[in-house]
Amino acid sequence: MATEKTLNDLFHDTLKDIYFAEKQVLKALPKMARAAQSEEAKAGFTQHRDETQGQIERLQQVFELLNKPARGKTCEAILGIIAEGEDIMEEYKGSAVIDAGLISAAQAVEHYEIARYSTLISWAKLIGLNDAVPLLQESLAEEQATDKKLTQLAQTWATAKGKKAA
Ligand code: FE
Ligand code: FE
Ligand code: FE
Repeated sequence: MATEKTLNDLFHDTLKDIYFAEKQVLKALPKMARAAQSEEAKAGFTQHRDETQGQIERLQQVFELLNKPARGKTCEAILGIIAEGEDIMEEYKGSAVIDAGLISAAQAVEHYEIARYSTLISWAKLIGLNDAVPLLQESLAEEQATDKKLTQLAQTWATAKGKKAA
């Protein structure tokens, strides 16, 4: 008889999902920084790449709290979101709207990450993995700050170039 799945299992599987996703994002961000036209967008992607490295290390600490090896599990969602970003990089290379496209792709990544960290925080509390909560909250705060910064970048882009690029 199969053992009944628990919230602990769901937390562990979801931790593997975001761990896989963060590692993919770590590889995608330098490509996005290279593809961006504005210095602000380049700097933003590069800075978040460094934050992502720290987030991966925090996730490794959460795996340690669970006494499990840090191991990812394929996240089809992030692969799809990143593939869309790569399409934009190819199809809009050299275009005046490339930054708008890259910012929108990056924002889709942040929203996925925010969903995952928010869920993991509430489940960590329920399963009593209290030491994981501040680690996950720190990463959630970085994703939220990045999302806000991307909104500002999109607004700056819209003001400077939006109408002309229509
Ligand atoms: Fe992240
Ligand atoms: Fe996923
Ligand atoms: Fe992020």
